[in-house]
Amino acid sequence: MPSATSAIQSKLPKVGTTIFTHMSKLAEDYKAINLAQGFPEFDCSPDLQMLVDKYIRQGKNQYAPMAGVLTLREAISKKIFEATSTEYHPVTEITITSGATEALYVAISTVVNLGDEVIVFEPAYDSYVPAIEMNGGIPVFVTLDPQYEYIDWEVVSSKITEKTKAIIINTPHNPTGKVWTSTDLEQLDLLAEKHDLFVISDEVYEHIIFDGLQHISAVSIPSLAARTFLCGSFGKTFHATGWKVGYCLAPKEFTAEFRKIHQYMVFSVITPFQFAIAEFLKDPEHYLSLSSFYETKRNIFINAIKHTGLKLKPSEGSFFQNVSYENLSDEHDLALAERLTKEAGVASIPISSFYDQPTDFRVLRFCFAKNNETLLRAGELLNKVNW
Ligand code: PMP
Ligand code: GLN
Repeated sequence: MPSATSAIQSKLPKVGTTIFTHMSKLAEDYKAINLAQGFPEFDCSPDLQMLVDKYIRQGKNQYAPMAGVLTLREAISKKIFEATSTEYHPVTEITITSGATEALYVAISTVVNLGDEVIVFEPAYDSYVPAIEMNGGIPVFVTLDPQYEYIDWEVVSSKITEKTKAIIINTPHNPTGKVWTSTDLEQLDLLAEKHDLFVISDEVYEHIIFDGLQHISAVSIPSLAARTFLCGSFGKTFHATGWKVGYCLAPKEFTAEFRKIHQYMVFSVITPFQFAIAEFLKDPEHYLSLSSFYETKRNIFINAIKHTGLKLKPSEGSFFQNVSYENLSDEHDLALAERLTKEAGVASIPISSFYDQPTDFRVLRFCFAKNNETLLRAGELLNKVNW
């Protein structure tokens, strides 16, 4: 008789442990500098920590409302209105989630039914495709040009069929650091309208954007906002990826369906942290200073690796710098990332892991959300590599 465990029919047969877990474990085992998994090396603000402490001591320790603490939803509503002039009603259109990961999963689950196709740009953040497949959907890939310079809207258009239900976008983009332009969003608006598509917009790096570029939210265009689930997170914005507090903004009818799933997935999200974030959001400087903070780090890292022979890809936003090593080595990117971790003491993420089909553009992603000394030390180590 088969054992119960061997009888499980996997819903995700192609999926193993994520590349982030794999590379972080390898970095730990080999005591390498971890520029692989994207998380800050530094702590969140002591003021924010004090606020959490304050609310824990005030007894805000029981279940939050299913949709989230109202003061946080109000603060998000104000913030998004100031940035985009789009109004989201805190009671009916904003839901606090367990990180953007839950927001994305639930948004996908809300709109995707069996056999529906969903357009995904690749390289793609790793959680989108499993979420589509778990809901019986079919991911349809549009590959970004290897230089990350533009989005070919004719290709996007050619991939849309009568089964296409939604399109997932991510700006600033992980892993490339590409930022979508206003023209991109206008093109998206036209296509989404023409084919009546839902849009799921992952904007977790909204406040990390460089060289004077502006983040343009999908919801800054009213017609696009009317079909969009905007997924955000405080993990990157407040250097608190472990808190897993995110949110989803969507029109009232979308939010009603979204909450039906959210309420059975997590019901509600950690209470004192929501109160603390709501209070901390009162000072916009807490997030508006983030771009220059990270731009400095990006530049320190770029400077530290300038004699390695690695070729830089543009990094317009997020906290990732991609580099091409095609002129240095023929090694497969995963093998190289593993070898660099073990031999050079610097961990990175191979870009091929963000593609559906085996692809190797000979590109590695480095996370520069680290202390300056760490970035300089990583540069020194990479300078010594025997490619
Ligand atoms: N989307 C992107 C593009 C990300 O990089 C991440 C995590 N780094 C997430 C979503 C998930 O965010 P969270 O940690 O808030 O779940
Ligand atoms: N978003 C992070 C990254 O891109 C990783 C998050 C995770 O490990 N799931 O590195």
